[in-house]
Amino acid sequence: MDNIAIVWFRNDLRLHDNEGLNEALLKAKKIIPVYVFDKKVFEGKTSFGFEKTGKFRTKFIIESVRDLRENLRKKGGDLVIRIGDPVEEIFSLAKELKTSWVYCNRERTAEEIKVQDDIEKKLWSVGQELRFCRGKMLYYTADLPFPISQVPDVFTTFRKEIENIVPIREPLPEPTSVPFLDEYLNRGELPTLKTFFKDDVDTSQHIENQNFIGGETEGIKQLDKYFWETNNVQKYKETRNELLGWDFSTKFSTWLSVGCISPKLVMQYKMKYESTVKKNESTYWVYFELLWRDFFRLMGKKYENKIFHLDGIRQKDPGGSLDMDLFQLWATGNTGVPFIDANMRQLNATGFMSNRGRQNVASFLVKDLKLNWIMGAEYFESMLIDYDPCSNYGNWNYVAGIGSDPREDRYFNILTQAKKYDANGDFVRYWIKELKNVPNSYIHTPDLMSEGDQDKYGVIIGKDYPASIFSFEKAY
Ligand SMILES: Cc1cc2nc3c(=O)[nH]c(=O)nc-3n(C[C@H](O)[C@H](O)[C@H](O)COP(=O)(O)OP(=O)(O)OC[C@H]3O[C@@H](n4cnc5c(N)ncnc54)[C@H](O)[C@@H]3O)c2cc1C
Repeated sequence: MDNIAIVWFRNDLRLHDNEGLNEALLKAKKIIPVYVFDKKVFEGKTSFGFEKTGKFRTKFIIESVRDLRENLRKKGGDLVIRIGDPVEEIFSLAKELKTSWVYCNRERTAEEIKVQDDIEKKLWSVGQELRFCRGKMLYYTADLPFPISQVPDVFTTFRKEIENIVPIREPLPEPTSVPFLDEYLNRGELPTLKTFFKDDVDTSQHIENQNFIGGETEGIKQLDKYFWETNNVQKYKETRNELLGWDFSTKFSTWLSVGCISPKLVMQYKMKYESTVKKNESTYWVYFELLWRDFFRLMGKKYENKIFHLDGIRQKDPGGSLDMDLFQLWATGNTGVPFIDANMRQLNATGFMSNRGRQNVASFLVKDLKLNWIMGAEYFESMLIDYDPCSNYGNWNYVAGIGSDPREDRYFNILTQAKKYDANGDFVRYWIKELKNVPNSYIHTPDLMSEGDQDKYGVIIGKDYPASIFSFEKAY
């Protein structure tokens, strides 16, 4: 009997730089690549009752799995698709096909750890092994100059201890062929959105997120576009805080979150671009931001489940009420604070929000509305197309003042932020059509318009657009 290995794809939906796939190919004669749509993840709810995986991310993952299957088929392989409990599905395939090993990428957050631990134990019961591989981060833990327990809690210290010191490894090449187990095996059908959303879900694509198409192929296209076709990378540092449009930031997060592209591949693009076209602060800054991603992942490894706890990694009670009515106004984009509402409406319509937007809406929820930060984090978990446990909860910890931010009580003045980053109100007008005729002088404070002005600009506050639930005059 040939040695057979299952490659259990998780958040590594790619052929390039895939350590698990590479190691399995070195060891086994036949490979069975498998992806399991975990019902707990696709049909479950968060503790506040939001869908664990909203429609945007579900759609993106379905597309990514389809692309992975097509790419594996081009290499002579295939992808077995199952819907259910990964523990049962992987175990029964391993048992039935008498495989020797199951390879997978090791995850580091509670729910994912539980699944991999349960599979490992079941495999032991039939004398098989789960082999863990890596590939989520830019850096390998083993290459860092400190053990996980000593990772600096302050980003700048972390950065200084590794940049220009620790080399970034080359991404692994994609395999030339994938010898699939050729006996009869039910390959399984790719689910559709209807598989997970029983009620009719609106699948129409908002123009803003038509470019978010899942898969390694599309991820690499976005890399090519951002670096080579548009040269947008040359001005990333100046544009990255913008709010409107597609090109102001890389948009790599979505493909990175499910592993359609590897961060090491992004770095390879960056280095090639710098050596052949241009090297400047902007090209460096792409690396700088990717470091944040590694940093939050390492915080997750160091502090484990604490990143999900109310008192976070600092174990400091942040307070915060559970007022659901207030929360709903925030979540639906009806606070009457245009800058907040525009960002939340963008999230609800597309699954994406810029980094500047995320900082502001999170700060507003925690510091101004004084709500429990976990409500916001879970809402993001549900809605974000690029949701990543460590990046999401790490950033929320940070904003809530219970994370790795060295500054005590960092506070965003929303009005100042709005005037700085949406000076002409274009972003607000784009997402809040009710305010489309409001002039610049009132666009961020429509409440201050007289009744005459409200009439003139075609919006009655309290009727067409909500009165603000928050008084800037009192607060700032
Ligand atoms: C409250 C809050 C929640 C967030 N939740 C997530 C999340 O679930 N998933 C996620 O990928 N990012 C999250 N971020 C980080 C950041 O907002 C997004 O990575 C970024 O907006 C994605 O757009 P981009 O790819 O165009 O980013 P770019 O500006 O082009 O940045 C390049 C890459 O750097 C990384 N990056 C940039 N900023 C951060 C950051 N603050 N933390 C971690 N990585 C970063 C991302 O991988 C990103 O793709 C969150 C930020 C906040 C404030």
